[in-house]
Amino acid sequence: MSNVFSKILYGYSEFRKKYAIGDNAVMRYLADSGQKPQIMIISCCDSRVDPALILQCNPGDLFVVRNVANIVPPYQKDEALHGTSAALEFGIGLLNIKQLILLGHSQCGGIDALLNSQKLSQDDFISKWVSSIKLSDNKTKNPDEYAKLALTRSYENCMTFPWIKDKLETNELTIHRWFFDIKMGQIFTYSENYHVYQALDV
Ligand SMILES: [Zn+2]
Repeated sequence: MSNVFSKILYGYSEFRKKYAIGDNAVMRYLADSGQKPQIMIISCCDSRVDPALILQCNPGDLFVVRNVANIVPPYQKDEALHGTSAALEFGIGLLNIKQLILLGHSQCGGIDALLNSQKLSQDDFISKWVSSIKLSDNKTKNPDEYAKLALTRSYENCMTFPWIKDKLETNELTIHRWFFDIKMGQIFTYSENYHVYQALDV
């Protein structure tokens, strides 16, 4: 068995001890009370960008959607399958989550695929998926800068969902744009006042 597979089995046994075994176990409580996460995060599939690990959260804390390049696609009520949109409807519409974090990151393979689309001309799904954050007036070829612009595109796409727009206008929902620098292990947040990303203050 590979080292990593052994590692995940050990991790599972530790999880059971910490969260699942005993009358007062967290999982038992969450099963009885139901989930009431207060934070929703849309992050990338990238193995280095795990929101629960970066933010040191427990089961029940975060409602997370992960997709290639952490994209919020535009609202499209058609016959296509919209997994991320369904998750937004579940989290914001049904669970009534009031804090939505769009979590981009450095060295994103999805962004790289968009900027170098000729590399992926034969792919089945990736090019079409990342094209939803294609910026018509883009001048940067820097993937990390582009990832930040793409967060703005996703933010704008959030506004195309009527029930998200309504909640933003009545201050029932806040959307945060966060950028995680992998090498530094640091989060930068978009400042609405200064229109720049600044290190997250803790
Ligand atoms: Zn990524």
